[in-house]
Amino acid sequence: MKDATYHRKGFGLKHVVDADLKRAYESDLIAELKESDNVLTRNGVTVRLAEAFGFCWGVDRAVSMAYETRRHFPERQIWITNEIIHNPVVNSHLKEMSIQFLPVKEDGSKNLDCVGEGDVVILPAFGASLDEMEYLDRRGCEIVDTTCPWVSRVWNRVAKYAQGDFTAIIHGKYNHEETVATSSRAQVYLIVQNLGEAELVADYILNGGDKAAFLERFRRGCSKGFDPERDLIRIGIANQTTMLKGETELIGKLFEKTMISKYGPSKIDQHFLSPGDTICDATQERQDAMLSLIEEDLDIMLIIGGFNSSNTGHLHEIAMTKSVPSYHIDGAECILSAEEINHKDENGTQTKISRDWLPPSPVVIGISAGASTPNQVVAQVIDKLFSLRSAPGRP
Ligand code: SF4
Repeated sequence: MKDATYHRKGFGLKHVVDADLKRAYESDLIAELKESDNVLTRNGVTVRLAEAFGFCWGVDRAVSMAYETRRHFPERQIWITNEIIHNPVVNSHLKEMSIQFLPVKEDGSKNLDCVGEGDVVILPAFGASLDEMEYLDRRGCEIVDTTCPWVSRVWNRVAKYAQGDFTAIIHGKYNHEETVATSSRAQVYLIVQNLGEAELVADYILNGGDKAAFLERFRRGCSKGFDPERDLIRIGIANQTTMLKGETELIGKLFEKTMISKYGPSKIDQHFLSPGDTICDATQERQDAMLSLIEEDLDIMLIIGGFNSSNTGHLHEIAMTKSVPSYHIDGAECILSAEEINHKDENGTQTKISRDWLPPSPVVIGISAGASTPNQVVAQVIDKLFSLRSAPGRP
């Protein structure tokens, strides 16, 4: 079997697929909103859109490359390793184009055996693990790699840590594809999901503790054979690109302080490597815009994006810091009526239906959307909000 062929820049067909992409994902209503300073009022409902929201550069590029791939290989079997981005609308459009999603096995790994020689495999914007890439390489397929350059930048950093025998402490979600891909590039790693977990690790570095309990606590987020006594002496920080920027910074500072306390400032370079700026621009812009939006005078907030989208979840976490009610929904279908809305619950684990969510008019609704949410989905939500109050006599 011959080695795989890699395509990392599309096929020069952007101008051909542009019209399809516009039709599928763009919206005149959003264009109108942008022209009126992101504020629009109809039927007693005022919508305030965040300054930055929706599709980021990396997602735009990945989706466009997927469309180009279909045009370039009209007859070939095309696979995507799981979802190209975390948005149900985009993924269903790709399925309509006969792009198949690799099935997932019971243990959560992807069933790569389906891929035959000569098939085309699209790797998603958040990348793929080294094991998956090596496996596909051996199957002699065509690989269209849409991995966002911001993600590869973190991979480079983690690989550098491995060369210097530093353990990568990764701020991320242990089951998110991007973090799985990043950790596969580290020799030794430990994943911390939030500041609370980072504090547990920092405490272990300074004071030691129950090793068995520590390993049980982090069993799903550490490399094979991880030993906290041996593997927390030299550490470098990395992150999933879509985490809360403020939290990533706090975690970096916490570990820097911890290593200075333990080894002294003169030896810090031998024990600690800082992450640099690896939260991507798009994530930062959307989080900053959300922070500004919550300062506005709003009655409720809606955050739109796939329920498994990490960056959308973080926008919702920012919204929840205010006392104004906020709901994470994945599209207009979640708005069941003016009385009922289906949304992700506060713990982010499942959906639930809340009643009496829409206050009486006049009502001001703040809206943002994650980096994988098309404008058309945002527009459908806004249209639905306006239509709820369009019937004469409605409060
Ligand atoms: S959110 Fe950032 S890292 Fe992820 S695809 Fe978009 S630009 Fe790339």
